[in-house]
Amino acid sequence: DVTDTKGREFEDFFLKRELLMGIFEKGFEKPSPIQEEAIPVILQNRNVLARAKNGTGKTAAYIIPCLEKTDTTKDFIQVLILIPTRELALQTSAIVKEMGKHMGIQCMVTTGGTSLKDDIMRLYNSVHIIVATPGRILDLGSKKVADLSKVKTIIMDEADKLLSPEFQPVLEEIIGQCHEDHQICLFSATFPVTVKGFCKKFVPNPYSINLMDELTLRGITQFYAYVEERQKVHCLNTLFTKLEINQSIIFCNSVNRVELLAKKITELGYSCYYIHAKMQQANRNRVFHEFRNGATRHLVTSDLFTRGIDIQSVNVVINFDFPKNSETYLHRIGRSGRFGHLGLAVNLISNEDRTNLRRVEQELGTEIRPIPPVIDRSLY
Ligand code: ADP
Ligand code: MG
Repeated sequence: DVTDTKGREFEDFFLKRELLMGIFEKGFEKPSPIQEEAIPVILQNRNVLARAKNGTGKTAAYIIPCLEKTDTTKDFIQVLILIPTRELALQTSAIVKEMGKHMGIQCMVTTGGTSLKDDIMRLYNSVHIIVATPGRILDLGSKKVADLSKVKTIIMDEADKLLSPEFQPVLEEIIGQCHEDHQICLFSATFPVTVKGFCKKFVPNPYSINLMDELTLRGITQFYAYVEERQKVHCLNTLFTKLEINQSIIFCNSVNRVELLAKKITELGYSCYYIHAKMQQANRNRVFHEFRNGATRHLVTSDLFTRGIDIQSVNVVINFDFPKNSETYLHRIGRSGRFGHLGLAVNLISNEDRTNLRRVEQELGTEIRPIPPVIDRSLY
């Protein structure tokens, strides 16, 4: 199980032939992960909150189902795509037109800073899909020039920007002009708190897609050892002799303890670097870079690097100090799940950590077992 790709094809979504032609002519061969997830749910008319990194194909993830849903035998606006900036609106409408070029779909882009009169003229013709910045479409809607009352699909791209507090009342008004029975689909790389409040009110029961936080404990065998504080270094030494460590990261809960432990490990005769938040950035970068290149076997650290540690050659992570909460635990131990490499996590548990251990286990729905005398080498 090396990747998460479900391996779907564009053909599997039962899209109209004319739409498939447009997709393939753009050079798309297979759906990206966000497209794979979002296309079928948008087609089911559900509300969607989709989170994925930049450059992963969010635009086509909503344009494709919007094009598929559009009924060209009907002569009214059916889809509204809201975009925070003019440039992006133009770019997005260009993709709608390209992908829909064999479908006879009329797409119009309308943004501030252009002639309102021209927009009014264009709306005399039939329009199926509108790509717009909020201010202009509200203006056209309020003047009854654009009739949004049959819009059943509302897309908000770059939703975090679109839903900044000063824009929100405008968006609420726009939504109020659309069909009562509508779906709203939000696409963004981040969903800040301000967006969450809006969603609660306007996007009920959404299907959430989150391709950002891919940390997973899959493939990682987790053990614990009960050990008194003053026995921890001794215990670590035993682990070093018993385990076949390719490279290890060892976590402490404070800067002081990082430095102290690194000193002790060096005294025991092992090559070891340390890194923590009080070091200068240039220094940190150098240490991390050298560790990544294999300059030392062990790296002692605070929670500075809990995010983004995904060094393939690290096969053992040791919590010399057990973290205070499950989120930190996940970030220390978890890896991005797309690469199915294995690993071992060993937690040194002092008396006061015992209840914490059980809580983390429960909250993450994972299993942390007592360390056996011999650890099967095939696990890591
Ligand atoms: P996002 O909005 O997530 O930042 P975009 O929708 O702008 O990403 O897509 C980024 C680039 O990837 C674009 O150039 C787009 O044409 C390309 N792209 C998107 N989906 C696919 C696909 N399925 N196959 C090939 N290229 C794709
Ligand atoms: Mg985008």
